[in-house]
Amino acid sequence: MINKENCNPFPINTSKVYGRIFKFEEHAGNFNISLDLLNDVLVEADTSLSSNLEINRDFRPFYYGMSIEMLSEDGNIEFKRINDGDWYELTIEPVRAKGNGSSWLALCLITFSTSPVESEIYRITGIGKKPNKKMPKIEIPDKSVLRSSVFWELELLRLCYRVKLKLCNIKKLQILHIGQGFQSRLFNNCDDFVCYDIGSSKCCDTDKTINRRLLDYDNLRAVILSHWDEDHILGAFNSSSLRPLDVPWFAPASIHSHNAKRLAFTIYLRNNLNLHLVDFPLLLSCSDSCDFIPLPKSTNLNNNGICMFIHKNDKRVLSIGDAEYSRIPFGLISDMDNKLDYLVVSHHGAEMKSKPPAARNQFISKAIIPVGKNIYEHPKNKTLKTLKKLGYLIHRTDYDGEITITF
Ligand SMILES: [Zn+2]
Repeated sequence: MINKENCNPFPINTSKVYGRIFKFEEHAGNFNISLDLLNDVLVEADTSLSSNLEINRDFRPFYYGMSIEMLSEDGNIEFKRINDGDWYELTIEPVRAKGNGSSWLALCLITFSTSPVESEIYRITGIGKKPNKKMPKIEIPDKSVLRSSVFWELELLRLCYRVKLKLCNIKKLQILHIGQGFQSRLFNNCDDFVCYDIGSSKCCDTDKTINRRLLDYDNLRAVILSHWDEDHILGAFNSSSLRPLDVPWFAPASIHSHNAKRLAFTIYLRNNLNLHLVDFPLLLSCSDSCDFIPLPKSTNLNNNGICMFIHKNDKRVLSIGDAEYSRIPFGLISDMDNKLDYLVVSHHGAEMKSKPPAARNQFISKAIIPVGKNIYEHPKNKTLKTLKKLGYLIHRTDYDGEITITF
């Protein structure tokens, strides 16, 4: 029987835990390592999922990942060693439990898929060998990926954006405060909305600025993803309803983590017409006033994305997920002199290599930073200075809450 309880590899008990690194970042001696996690029950669940067994209508995809905040010297070396895209057996225990003295490799903030998302400190004391069993591999069906070379597929994609999104009359854009992560909602005049990213915080427990309501997705029409990073998709796992799984998704074709693949594959299995993956730059207008533009392909997860540009009633809004500003294909954006009324600041205010577009009206235009409690010191002071220099008023969601832009 596959359910939320026995799929959960935590609290650590008798079953083995398998981990696979899908993101390894090093910034001036600090590490950010993200792992997918499986236990034996999840291995079984994913194996049957990927062998295309009839999906149970109540099946919910699970998210069991781990973000590593602290590493010992040994841990640093060990994790570098296993950063090869393969699965390894891990020994993990809660910090409260009696451990093996101080011989830890990493202290980790564990993210559960439960609703609401919870975090706790665990420690890894050992990294074993590769498992001696066949680990599941979730393959996204080829027909979900739209190819730039096939004319009718492109036309179909354009049509999908226009028809399925139902955004012919945009009324407002709401940028939620969900902590360190991103979710925004684009409403039409019938109060239906499209999510441009469906994130939720990884650490609701520790971020006191978050109102811990469960988000309501009743009027959700579609999801468009800037990219498949966990802080931009966790809201789909962290929902009381299955609605986010039953609407069309438009997303980049490059999906790095096992957890995100499980989500994408579940959407496909529930309705194989709902998953639309793109991996080439193209102007996709869903109405006269709203464009979604896939960015050129990149090996960097954050830079593989879809950006959103709204231009209505003399208001210009740009939102690009966590990508570099230099990735925006300005040539594809119409009616744009590179100046904005609202900039949704990329990557939660991280330091970027490229400069954002300037403010259109000095100290009236707003730079909105979706940010919550985090270990990266987002937003960076340098970013705030740059934004002010470009003429923006700063709106941080952790200080100022959610914001609604009306058109
Ligand atoms: Zn992010």
